[in-house]
Amino acid sequence: MKIKRLKLSGFKSFVEPSELRIEPGLTGIVGPNGCGKSNLLEALRWAMGEGSPKSLRGGGMEDVIFAGTATRAPRDFAEVSILIEREPTDSSMGGESEVTRRIERGSGSAYRLDGRDVRAKDVALLFADAATGAHSPALVSQNRIGAVIAAKPTERRQMLEEAAGISGLHARRKDAEQK
Ligand code: ATP
Ligand code: MG
Repeated sequence: MKIKRLKLSGFKSFVEPSELRIEPGLTGIVGPNGCGKSNLLEALRWAMGEGSPKSLRGGGMEDVIFAGTATRAPRDFAEVSILIEREPTDSSMGGESEVTRRIERGSGSAYRLDGRDVRAKDVALLFADAATGAHSPALVSQNRIGAVIAAKPTERRQMLEEAAGISGLHARRKDAEQK
């Protein structure tokens, strides 16, 4: 799976609709302290289904919504879309899809896949199968290196399973066992 474009509106410091094309190869984000580099990575993780406000440096999930500044009023929603390109597999054709997550003050998050309403779980499975997602080892944030080193063996195994792309299988098995 490739991430081709990130769109944000009202997410943290990205109050105005913003769009970033992600070209093939390694992507680096540079800029002065506080300009929003970490916010961009958090937007990616959030749209992929991150459920923990703490891991997005907030107290509650609504803290991702632009909170306002001395000169700008706060926003009442945040929306992030990721355009992905999926490789064809035995069971699907591949091609481009857009995943969107939106949160409104007082009414929580909703997800869309190519404009259709979907569940958080559907988005999590989509990314888990592609060895990416909110907790993907492919997204290395500022404090993550230390976490890998300090992890317990079982946690480290989970990280390796995610990297290998088999955590989607585990999620499906768990789902099937509950039914
Ligand atoms: P550093 O180089 O220090 O790591 P950075 O480029 O990673 O900086 P971020 O941490 O992404 O910067 O951005 C921090 C900025 O985002 C701060 O100015 C903070 O006020 C702003 N910010 C975070 N959440 C919100 C929000 N909900 N509403 C408005 N601004 C926000
Ligand atoms: Mg940062």
